[in-house]
Amino acid sequence: MLTSADLYSRDLDSLLNSLPDFKPHEVDLITAAYQRAEQAHSGQRRKSGEPYFTHCVAVASILADMKMDAESVAAGLLHDVVEDSDVSVEILRGEFGSTIAKLVDGVTKLKNLPIKNVAAGNTRRTSAINREMEYIRKMLLTMGDDVRVVLIKLADRLHNMRTLGYMPRHKQQSVAQETMDIFAPLANRLGIWQMKWELEDLSFRYLNQDAYRSIAKALDERRDERERYVNRIKERLTKELSKAKITKVTITTRPKHIYSIYSKMTKKDLPLEQIYDIRGMRVLVDSLAECYLALGIVHNLWRPIPGEFDDYVANPKDNFYRSLHTAVHDDEGKTVEVQIRTWEMHEDAEYGIAAHWRYKEGKNGHDQAFEQRLEYLRRLMEFGPELNDASQFVDTVKSEVFQDRVYSVTPNGDIIDLPVGATPIDFAYHIHTDVGNRCRGAKVNGRLMPLNYKLQMGDQVEILTAKRGGPSMDWLNTDLDYAITNRARTKIRHWLRKQNRDKHIIMGREVLERELKRLGVLEKVTFESVAKLHNFDKLDDFLAAIGAGDVTGPQITNRVLEEERRKSAESVSDDDLLKPRSRPVGANVAKGVSIMGAGGLLVNLARCCAPMPGDDIIGYITRGRGVTVHRGECPNIAASRETERLIDVSWGPGDEAQRYLVPVEVVAYDREGLLREISTIIADQRVNIASIDVSTRQHIATLNLQLEISSNQQLTRILNLIDLVPNVVEARRRNTG
Ligand code: MN
Repeated sequence: MLTSADLYSRDLDSLLNSLPDFKPHEVDLITAAYQRAEQAHSGQRRKSGEPYFTHCVAVASILADMKMDAESVAAGLLHDVVEDSDVSVEILRGEFGSTIAKLVDGVTKLKNLPIKNVAAGNTRRTSAINREMEYIRKMLLTMGDDVRVVLIKLADRLHNMRTLGYMPRHKQQSVAQETMDIFAPLANRLGIWQMKWELEDLSFRYLNQDAYRSIAKALDERRDERERYVNRIKERLTKELSKAKITKVTITTRPKHIYSIYSKMTKKDLPLEQIYDIRGMRVLVDSLAECYLALGIVHNLWRPIPGEFDDYVANPKDNFYRSLHTAVHDDEGKTVEVQIRTWEMHEDAEYGIAAHWRYKEGKNGHDQAFEQRLEYLRRLMEFGPELNDASQFVDTVKSEVFQDRVYSVTPNGDIIDLPVGATPIDFAYHIHTDVGNRCRGAKVNGRLMPLNYKLQMGDQVEILTAKRGGPSMDWLNTDLDYAITNRARTKIRHWLRKQNRDKHIIMGREVLERELKRLGVLEKVTFESVAKLHNFDKLDDFLAAIGAGDVTGPQITNRVLEEERRKSAESVSDDDLLKPRSRPVGANVAKGVSIMGAGGLLVNLARCCAPMPGDDIIGYITRGRGVTVHRGECPNIAASRETERLIDVSWGPGDEAQRYLVPVEVVAYDREGLLREISTIIADQRVNIASIDVSTRQHIATLNLQLEISSNQQLTRILNLIDLVPNVVEARRRNTG
């Protein structure tokens, strides 16, 4: 007969066996943590009747499955000892070092965080968002710079959800609701899809038992039929892929996530049979080029469904998910959803932020994806309900999002979390609007400091207030940096707006006069015309807005300068050229291309490399869709080894009259007026811009343009001219292949 000690040691063995290749000292660490936690929890039982310690081993196994590092697995074993036994953080520090002690302490504190109650009048949805935000905010404060705390907490929650059946009914509901509101979205934001899905399914099972059961049952009944079907198309696709020399490929039929099926059914109001991802395939290949090649093969083999193709590789989702998604009608007319990605993308998608630790050793220094994910979480905290104006939003993103945080404390020891560069005024408004409005001075670490002092990490701040009075106009002056957070600036503007309008008009007039004088245009423009530039019909309203701080000095000067530039640009350019043509030129119909040796075939220009006259080109004979013309250096062509499908093509006469859509990418250090200057250059060359997409990250602007170009020479000229624009780092033709 086995004793309980035998059972445990077998558990230890299987835990150790499940670890990635840990070094001997790491295995020792985990063994020691195992024994310590087992001893600490001895005699304790879970609701299921099992020894409590089995929970700790399960949490550690989840972390090991996620391929987390040894410290995380050890902390997973020990995560409940501080809470549930007499082992203190100090004892842990002595036995296991400060990192593991800190991890366990963080997880313990996270458990005790109060979660805001549902505020009256809120809808379910907004209160869930508020709860999540509040939790994320506190989580970021608690975890410090070690996100592993959160991953251990998630593993803990996952195991508790897996064993929720032993809890009393009312407890099941509240735990499941909390998981749905906070932990599943958290896993999603951290990019850990595997965990997100499982948490959602487990919660859904308790929150909507009937729906869960009926979907599960329906899926189960058709499982055999579905599996046979999927195997059939899988075989077919494997054969086609191997013809294109994609042999190292894994095709999986994706696991069924009941909650995601349910969401789709309710969102799109569809019956179960019409949900595509019930018949879903995932194709894993080695390289990016193979992804697109495989996509082409899928689209050739079966008819793609319009509107269902998503390129999350070129445009990753907010949580950095990358994959190609498409849906096709198969030979029998059934819809199949197909996801195509590389192994690396796959690991990223399944493990999210946790993938950081498995790559850490190979890469030196910064893991950019990891940093981006943390940055994203930090950014979330700034998106409060006060952001409703689009331009304010952009300002906020510019001034706050890409900066770090500084934590300071009140005399009571409450932590106030602000962006770096925040001042005592920001601090005061963060505590309470009234404290902000009446703020007259600040003591930082016991010493009186100016109100535009930049708070440092850990500063203790005491706000000195007056009995009456309000904020000063100067606090909004962006050159003086009195208040940098959106919250403080909104509150200051709000207070000022409520003050006497006449006073604002007088103050506004002074500010406007001063700004126009500074620009040297006081005589050239009328106040009314400047008001119009800011979309104010009445001058007094405009002046009052300036006086109230709604329109700032820099905003006025920027608008006026922009208008001046526009006027001078207008005299040399044809503005019509900047508007997209009503019917864009066809990217895939190439009338003027003549084909050597294969006359009469339907000809398409490849979208991946968008060739145009002057380019070296080659034709690819597709299945049933004529010839696709690629650029000679297109990676899709290079990756294709079906040389028998390649044919020589050349540009025929008359191509000059035709215009071609060419994707162009411009990277620049962002500045005022950049886009306008680039547009003007393109317009001057009589080239139409079919689309523009601008994204800015950390002051680097990336412009993606679709230009209607008639020749290679014209494109080269435009790229050279854009290169000369100040701040432009690079202007190039984009190769989407
Ligand atoms: Mn636990």
